[in-house]
Amino acid sequence: MTDSASSPTTTAVTLDTRGRPLRDLRISVTDRCNFRCVYCMPRDTFGPDHAFLPRQEILTFEEIARLAGLFTRLGVTKVRLTGGEPLVRRDLETLVAMLRSNPAITDLTLTTNGSLLARHARTLAGAGLSRVTISLDALDDPTFGRMNDARFPVAQVMEGMRAAEGAGLGPIKVNMVVKRGWNEAAVLPMARHFRWSDQSVRFIEYMDVGHSNGWRLDDVVPASEILAMISAEFPLEPMAPTERGEVARRYRYTDGAGEIGLIASVTQPFCGDCVRARISADGKLFTCLFAVAGHDLRSLVRSDASDEEIEARLRRVWNLRDDRYSELRSAETVGLPKVEMSYIGG
Ligand code: SF4
Repeated sequence: MTDSASSPTTTAVTLDTRGRPLRDLRISVTDRCNFRCVYCMPRDTFGPDHAFLPRQEILTFEEIARLAGLFTRLGVTKVRLTGGEPLVRRDLETLVAMLRSNPAITDLTLTTNGSLLARHARTLAGAGLSRVTISLDALDDPTFGRMNDARFPVAQVMEGMRAAEGAGLGPIKVNMVVKRGWNEAAVLPMARHFRWSDQSVRFIEYMDVGHSNGWRLDDVVPASEILAMISAEFPLEPMAPTERGEVARRYRYTDGAGEIGLIASVTQPFCGDCVRARISADGKLFTCLFAVAGHDLRSLVRSDASDEEIEARLRRVWNLRDDRYSELRSAETVGLPKVEMSYIGG
Protein backbone atom coordinates (compact mmCIF):
# COMPACT_ATOMS: atom_id res chain seq x y z
CA MET A 1 0.00 0.00 0.00
CA THR A 2 1.31 3.49 -0.81
CA ASP A 3 0.32 7.04 0.11
CA SER A 4 -2.99 8.25 -1.31
CA ALA A 5 -4.55 11.71 -1.43
CA SER A 6 -7.88 12.50 0.17
CA SER A 7 -11.10 12.85 -1.87
CA PRO A 8 -14.60 14.01 -0.96
CA THR A 9 -15.32 10.45 0.16
CA THR A 10 -11.91 9.16 1.27
CA THR A 11 -9.30 10.23 3.84
CA ALA A 12 -5.72 10.56 2.68
CA VAL A 13 -3.28 7.81 3.67
CA THR A 14 0.32 8.70 4.46
CA LEU A 15 2.57 5.81 5.45
CA ASP A 16 5.85 5.59 7.31
CA THR A 17 8.63 3.11 6.57
CA ARG A 18 6.72 0.41 8.52
CA GLY A 19 3.44 0.91 6.71
CA ARG A 20 1.85 2.77 9.61
CA PRO A 21 -0.67 5.42 8.49
CA LEU A 22 -0.57 8.88 10.11
CA ARG A 23 -3.96 9.27 11.79
CA ASP A 24 -3.65 10.78 15.28
CA LEU A 25 -2.15 14.16 16.11
CA ARG A 26 -1.40 15.15 19.71
CA ILE A 27 -0.87 18.85 20.19
CA SER A 28 0.75 20.22 23.33
CA VAL A 29 -0.59 23.73 23.88
CA THR A 30 1.66 24.52 26.89
CA ASP A 31 4.64 23.07 28.76
CA ARG A 32 3.27 24.40 32.05
CA CYS A 33 1.29 22.47 34.63
CA ASN A 34 -0.12 23.03 38.09
CA PHE A 35 0.84 19.49 39.13
CA ARG A 36 4.29 17.97 39.61
CA CYS A 37 3.56 14.29 38.93
CA VAL A 38 6.60 12.27 39.93
CA TYR A 39 6.61 10.26 36.67
CA CYS A 40 6.34 13.31 34.42
CA MET A 41 7.39 16.61 36.03
CA PRO A 42 9.42 15.76 39.13
CA ARG A 43 9.78 18.86 41.30
CA ASP A 44 13.55 18.55 41.64
CA THR A 45 13.79 19.18 37.88
CA PHE A 46 10.70 21.34 37.40
CA GLY A 47 11.23 23.50 40.48
CA PRO A 48 10.59 27.22 41.04
CA ASP A 49 13.62 28.14 38.87
CA HIS A 50 12.62 25.99 35.90
CA ALA A 51 12.55 28.04 32.71
CA PHE A 52 9.30 27.36 30.86
CA LEU A 53 8.88 28.30 27.21
CA PRO A 54 8.58 32.07 26.74
CA ARG A 55 5.28 33.25 25.26
CA GLN A 56 6.71 34.34 21.91
CA GLU A 57 8.04 30.82 21.32
CA ILE A 58 4.64 29.21 21.85
CA LEU A 59 2.51 28.54 18.77
CA THR A 60 -0.49 30.80 18.47
CA PHE A 61 -3.96 29.28 18.08
CA GLU A 62 -3.95 30.34 14.43
CA GLU A 63 -0.62 28.57 13.84
CA ILE A 64 -1.87 25.42 15.61
CA ALA A 65 -5.10 25.41 13.58
CA ARG A 66 -3.17 25.89 10.33
CA LEU A 67 -0.81 23.01 11.11
CA ALA A 68 -3.65 20.75 12.21
CA GLY A 69 -5.42 21.54 8.94
CA LEU A 70 -2.34 20.55 6.95
CA PHE A 71 -2.03 17.31 8.91
CA THR A 72 -5.60 16.40 7.94
CA ARG A 73 -4.46 16.50 4.32
CA LEU A 74 -2.14 13.63 5.24
CA GLY A 75 -4.84 11.55 6.90
CA VAL A 76 -5.15 12.89 10.43
CA THR A 77 -8.73 12.63 11.70
CA LYS A 78 -8.13 12.53 15.47
CA VAL A 79 -6.67 15.51 17.33
CA ARG A 80 -5.90 15.42 21.04
CA LEU A 81 -5.00 18.56 23.00
CA THR A 82 -2.43 18.01 25.74
CA GLY A 83 0.18 19.89 27.73
CA GLY A 84 1.63 20.16 30.46
CA GLU A 85 -1.89 20.85 31.64
CA PRO A 86 -3.78 22.26 28.61
CA LEU A 87 -6.35 24.10 30.73
CA VAL A 88 -3.71 26.41 32.19
CA ARG A 89 -3.56 27.98 28.71
CA ARG A 90 -6.04 30.84 28.52
CA ASP A 91 -9.06 30.80 26.18
CA LEU A 92 -8.51 27.21 25.10
CA GLU A 93 -12.15 27.20 23.98
CA THR A 94 -11.13 29.52 21.14
CA LEU A 95 -8.67 26.95 19.80
CA VAL A 96 -11.23 24.16 20.23
CA ALA A 97 -13.72 26.14 18.12
CA MET A 98 -11.09 26.76 15.43
CA LEU A 99 -10.23 23.05 15.22
CA ARG A 100 -13.87 22.03 15.35
CA SER A 101 -14.56 24.17 12.26
CA ASN A 102 -12.40 21.73 10.25
CA PRO A 103 -14.74 18.89 9.13
CA ALA A 104 -11.78 16.58 8.51
CA ILE A 105 -11.18 16.43 12.28
CA THR A 106 -13.78 13.86 13.35
CA ASP A 107 -12.56 13.34 16.92
CA LEU A 108 -11.33 16.29 19.00
CA THR A 109 -10.30 15.35 22.52
CA LEU A 110 -8.38 16.66 25.51
CA THR A 111 -6.20 15.05 28.17
CA THR A 112 -6.32 16.90 31.49
CA ASN A 113 -5.50 16.43 35.15
CA GLY A 114 -9.05 17.56 35.84
CA SER A 115 -8.07 20.27 38.30
CA LEU A 116 -9.64 23.10 36.24
CA LEU A 117 -12.26 21.05 34.41
CA ALA A 118 -15.25 22.03 36.54
CA ARG A 119 -14.71 25.62 35.41
CA HIS A 120 -14.34 24.83 31.68
CA ALA A 121 -16.34 21.68 30.89
CA ARG A 122 -19.47 23.41 29.62
CA THR A 123 -17.64 26.00 27.48
CA LEU A 124 -15.31 23.36 26.02
CA ALA A 125 -18.30 21.25 25.05
CA GLY A 126 -19.98 24.33 23.62
CA ALA A 127 -16.89 25.05 21.53
CA GLY A 128 -17.07 21.56 20.03
CA LEU A 129 -14.82 19.33 22.11
CA SER A 130 -15.79 15.64 21.70
CA ARG A 131 -14.42 13.97 24.81
CA VAL A 132 -11.99 14.26 27.72
CA THR A 133 -9.49 11.90 29.30
CA ILE A 134 -8.73 12.63 32.93
CA SER A 135 -5.53 11.58 34.72
CA LEU A 136 -6.17 10.29 38.25
CA ASP A 137 -3.56 8.15 39.99
CA ALA A 138 -5.42 7.26 43.20
CA LEU A 139 -8.71 7.85 45.04
CA ASP A 140 -7.26 8.67 48.45
CA ASP A 141 -5.71 12.10 48.99
CA PRO A 142 -2.47 10.91 50.63
CA THR A 143 -1.53 8.64 47.70
CA PHE A 144 -2.87 11.02 45.04
CA GLY A 145 -1.06 13.94 46.70
CA ARG A 146 2.16 11.95 46.74
CA MET A 147 1.85 11.12 43.02
CA ASN A 148 1.00 14.63 41.87
CA ASP A 149 3.30 16.27 44.42
CA ALA A 150 0.97 19.23 44.52
CA ARG A 151 -1.14 17.98 47.43
CA PHE A 152 -4.17 18.35 45.10
CA PRO A 153 -7.43 16.85 46.45
CA VAL A 154 -9.19 14.02 44.62
CA ALA A 155 -12.55 15.69 45.28
CA GLN A 156 -11.75 18.56 42.94
CA VAL A 157 -10.86 16.19 40.12
CA MET A 158 -14.09 14.29 40.75
CA GLU A 159 -16.01 17.55 40.57
CA GLY A 160 -14.40 18.20 37.18
CA MET A 161 -15.32 14.68 36.06
CA ARG A 162 -18.96 15.22 37.01
CA ALA A 163 -19.00 18.56 35.19
CA ALA A 164 -17.53 16.93 32.07
CA GLU A 165 -20.05 14.09 32.24
CA GLY A 166 -22.84 16.67 32.66
CA ALA A 167 -21.57 18.64 29.67
CA GLY A 168 -21.63 15.54 27.46
CA LEU A 169 -17.84 15.12 27.20
CA GLY A 170 -18.08 11.38 27.77
CA PRO A 171 -17.48 8.51 27.58
CA ILE A 172 -14.70 9.65 29.92
CA LYS A 173 -11.52 7.66 30.15
CA VAL A 174 -9.56 7.83 33.40
CA ASN A 175 -5.78 7.35 33.09
CA MET A 176 -3.93 5.92 36.08
CA VAL A 177 -0.14 5.57 35.97
CA VAL A 178 0.91 2.77 38.33
CA LYS A 179 4.33 3.00 40.01
CA ARG A 180 5.54 0.25 42.33
CA GLY A 181 5.96 1.39 45.90
CA TRP A 182 3.82 4.44 45.24
CA ASN A 183 0.25 3.62 44.24
CA GLU A 184 -0.20 -0.03 43.26
CA ALA A 185 -2.40 -0.46 46.35
CA ALA A 186 -4.75 2.06 44.76
CA VAL A 187 -5.40 -0.13 41.69
CA LEU A 188 -8.20 -2.24 43.18
CA PRO A 189 -10.00 0.69 44.87
CA MET A 190 -9.88 2.47 41.50
CA ALA A 191 -11.30 -0.57 39.69
CA ARG A 192 -14.05 -0.99 42.30
CA HIS A 193 -15.00 2.69 42.19
CA PHE A 194 -15.51 2.90 38.43
CA ARG A 195 -17.32 -0.43 37.94
CA TRP A 196 -20.93 0.14 36.86
CA SER A 197 -20.08 3.74 35.89
CA ASP A 198 -19.84 5.52 32.52
CA GLN A 199 -16.13 6.04 32.98
CA SER A 200 -13.48 3.43 32.14
CA VAL A 201 -10.07 3.27 33.77
CA ARG A 202 -6.88 2.71 31.77
CA PHE A 203 -4.04 1.45 33.92
CA ILE A 204 -0.72 2.66 32.49
CA GLU A 205 2.67 1.07 33.04
CA TYR A 206 5.18 3.57 34.42
CA MET A 207 7.37 4.62 31.51
CA ASP A 208 10.90 5.98 30.99
CA VAL A 209 9.59 9.11 29.33
CA GLY A 210 11.92 12.10 29.25
CA HIS A 211 15.18 12.02 31.17
CA SER A 212 14.39 13.25 34.66
CA ASN A 213 11.90 10.90 36.36
CA GLY A 214 14.61 8.47 37.57
CA TRP A 215 12.88 5.54 35.87
CA ARG A 216 13.86 2.00 36.89
CA LEU A 217 12.38 -1.23 35.54
CA ASP A 218 11.89 -2.38 39.15
CA ASP A 219 9.35 0.41 39.63
CA VAL A 220 7.17 -0.88 36.80
CA VAL A 221 4.07 -2.88 37.72
CA PRO A 222 3.54 -5.00 34.60
CA ALA A 223 0.10 -4.91 32.98
CA SER A 224 -0.13 -8.68 33.51
CA GLU A 225 0.18 -8.12 37.26
CA ILE A 226 -2.48 -5.39 37.24
CA LEU A 227 -4.78 -7.66 35.23
CA ALA A 228 -4.22 -10.50 37.71
CA MET A 229 -4.89 -8.17 40.65
CA ILE A 230 -8.25 -7.05 39.27
CA SER A 231 -9.49 -10.28 37.73
CA ALA A 232 -8.82 -12.12 41.00
CA GLU A 233 -11.76 -10.12 42.36
CA PHE A 234 -13.70 -9.32 39.18
CA PRO A 235 -13.37 -11.75 36.26
CA LEU A 236 -12.44 -10.07 32.98
CA GLU A 237 -12.36 -11.13 29.34
CA PRO A 238 -10.36 -9.54 26.50
CA MET A 239 -12.09 -7.30 23.96
CA ALA A 240 -11.17 -6.91 20.30
CA PRO A 241 -9.56 -3.57 19.40
CA THR A 242 -11.98 -1.14 17.71
CA GLU A 243 -9.31 0.30 15.38
CA ARG A 244 -5.65 0.06 14.44
CA GLY A 245 -3.49 2.09 16.77
CA GLU A 246 -5.73 1.73 19.81
CA VAL A 247 -3.24 2.20 22.64
CA ALA A 248 -5.02 0.30 25.41
CA ARG A 249 -5.69 -3.43 25.52
CA ARG A 250 -9.31 -3.54 26.65
CA TYR A 251 -11.00 -6.05 28.95
CA ARG A 252 -14.66 -6.24 29.94
CA TYR A 253 -15.99 -7.42 33.26
CA THR A 254 -17.82 -10.68 32.67
CA ASP A 255 -20.60 -9.51 34.97
CA GLY A 256 -21.33 -6.54 32.70
CA ALA A 257 -19.91 -3.89 35.04
CA GLY A 258 -17.99 -2.15 32.25
CA GLU A 259 -14.44 -2.30 31.00
CA ILE A 260 -10.85 -1.41 31.78
CA GLY A 261 -7.82 -0.72 29.61
CA LEU A 262 -4.17 -1.62 30.06
CA ILE A 263 -1.46 0.48 28.42
CA ALA A 264 1.67 -1.66 28.50
CA SER A 265 4.36 0.27 26.64
CA VAL A 266 7.13 -1.42 28.65
CA THR A 267 6.09 -5.09 28.78
CA GLN A 268 3.83 -5.37 25.69
CA PRO A 269 5.01 -2.70 23.19
CA PHE A 270 2.50 -1.60 20.54
CA CYS A 271 4.81 0.30 18.18
CA GLY A 272 3.72 -1.85 15.25
CA ASP A 273 0.40 -0.04 15.16
CA CYS A 274 1.52 3.42 16.27
CA VAL A 275 -0.22 6.03 14.12
CA ARG A 276 0.56 9.07 16.32
CA ALA A 277 2.47 12.26 15.69
CA ARG A 278 3.02 14.96 18.31
CA ILE A 279 3.61 18.70 18.19
CA SER A 280 5.22 20.49 21.11
CA ALA A 281 3.95 23.84 22.36
CA ASP A 282 6.82 25.58 20.57
CA GLY A 283 6.06 23.89 17.26
CA LYS A 284 8.37 20.89 17.00
CA LEU A 285 7.10 17.71 15.35
CA PHE A 286 7.92 14.45 17.15
CA THR A 287 7.21 11.05 15.63
CA CYS A 288 7.67 9.12 18.90
CA LEU A 289 6.94 9.80 22.59
CA PHE A 290 10.49 8.72 23.39
CA ALA A 291 12.19 10.82 20.74
CA VAL A 292 15.40 12.71 21.44
CA ALA A 293 14.81 15.43 18.83
CA GLY A 294 11.99 16.94 16.79
CA HIS A 295 11.47 18.79 13.50
CA ASP A 296 11.01 22.56 13.71
CA LEU A 297 7.66 23.60 12.22
CA ARG A 298 7.40 26.99 13.92
CA SER A 299 9.99 28.68 11.71
CA LEU A 300 8.12 27.20 8.71
CA VAL A 301 4.71 28.55 9.73
CA ARG A 302 6.30 31.90 10.57
CA SER A 303 8.08 32.06 7.19
CA ASP A 304 6.41 32.70 3.84
CA ALA A 305 6.31 28.98 3.10
CA SER A 306 3.08 27.99 1.36
CA ASP A 307 0.67 25.38 2.67
CA GLU A 308 1.85 23.05 -0.07
CA GLU A 309 5.48 23.44 0.99
CA ILE A 310 4.68 22.76 4.65
CA GLU A 311 2.45 19.82 3.74
CA ALA A 312 5.30 18.35 1.68
CA ARG A 313 7.64 18.75 4.65
CA LEU A 314 5.18 16.97 6.98
CA ARG A 315 4.73 14.16 4.48
CA ARG A 316 8.48 13.70 4.08
CA VAL A 317 9.00 13.48 7.86
CA TRP A 318 6.30 10.86 8.24
CA ASN A 319 7.34 8.87 5.16
CA LEU A 320 10.86 8.57 6.66
CA ARG A 321 9.62 7.63 10.12
CA ASP A 322 10.76 4.28 11.57
CA ASP A 323 10.35 4.80 15.32
CA ARG A 324 9.73 1.80 17.57
CA TYR A 325 11.38 2.82 20.80
CA SER A 326 9.39 0.55 23.09
CA GLU A 327 10.41 -2.49 21.06
CA LEU A 328 14.06 -1.46 21.32
CA ARG A 329 14.07 -0.28 24.96
CA SER A 330 17.21 -1.41 26.80
CA ALA A 331 19.50 -0.29 29.60
CA GLU A 332 21.36 1.79 27.00
CA THR A 333 18.26 3.57 25.66
CA VAL A 334 16.78 4.45 29.06
CA GLY A 335 19.50 7.05 29.68
CA LEU A 336 19.08 8.82 26.35
CA PRO A 337 18.22 12.56 26.58
CA LYS A 338 14.63 11.90 25.56
CA VAL A 339 12.20 14.77 25.26
CA GLU A 340 10.14 15.47 28.39
CA MET A 341 6.53 14.28 28.37
CA SER A 342 5.35 17.61 29.80
CA TYR A 343 6.83 19.25 26.70
CA ILE A 344 5.13 17.07 24.05
CA GLY A 345 2.16 15.70 25.95
CA GLY A 346 1.60 11.95 26.56
S1 SF4 B 1 7.32 4.04 21.60
FE1 SF4 B 1 7.13 5.54 19.97
S2 SF4 B 1 6.69 4.33 18.16
FE2 SF4 B 1 6.32 3.02 19.92
S3 SF4 B 1 4.14 3.24 20.36
FE3 SF4 B 1 5.20 4.74 21.62
S4 SF4 B 1 5.22 6.62 20.41
FE4 SF4 B 1 4.72 4.94 19.04
